[in-house]
Amino acid sequence: MNADPSKTITPHDTGCIFCKIVAGQIPCHKLYEDERVLSFLDIGPLSRGHCLVIPKAHYETIDATPGDLAGACAAVIARVSGAVRAATGATGFNVLQNNGAVSGQEVAHMHFHIIPRQANDGLGYRWLPGKLDAAGAATLIKAIGAGLER
Ligand code: 5GP
Ligand code: ZN
Repeated sequence: MNADPSKTITPHDTGCIFCKIVAGQIPCHKLYEDERVLSFLDIGPLSRGHCLVIPKAHYETIDATPGDLAGACAAVIARVSGAVRAATGATGFNVLQNNGAVSGQEVAHMHFHIIPRQANDGLGYRWLPGKLDAAGAATLIKAIGAGLER
């Protein structure tokens, strides 16, 4: 679902820390910038090279972000992640994107993490999988499909 672009919040409308970074009101270690997207090093890195990719416009979560802007972020992720991997010697990386406090989102400006990984880096990444049953899947397909038609 895409948000109304007229509802975009400018840096002056919010105390958002990432809007302040976009506006140059607080510094960042910038990796990449274009008209719509900014990438910079995370101030609390989980691993060497951990960085963020954000849209310059303020949207709180990815489902509130216009699809083309989310796509522009994805293109930057593809480009920056390769450069980060080459620079750090990472043998892999996670792209992480949290939505809502319950998911762990602390900064309410939509963003993607690029987290370089090395063998035995101790970061881990395993969630306990459940089991999908046919009836549950059918219910979900109907409910989600209805949302996609809107
Ligand atoms: P979240 O938990 O919202 O997905 O992740 C927010 C990320 O933003 C965290 O990894 C945190 O270290 C990073 N962060 C928070 N404030 C700043 C800041 O002022 N500058 C930079 N570069 N990163 C920040
Ligand atoms: Zn913001």
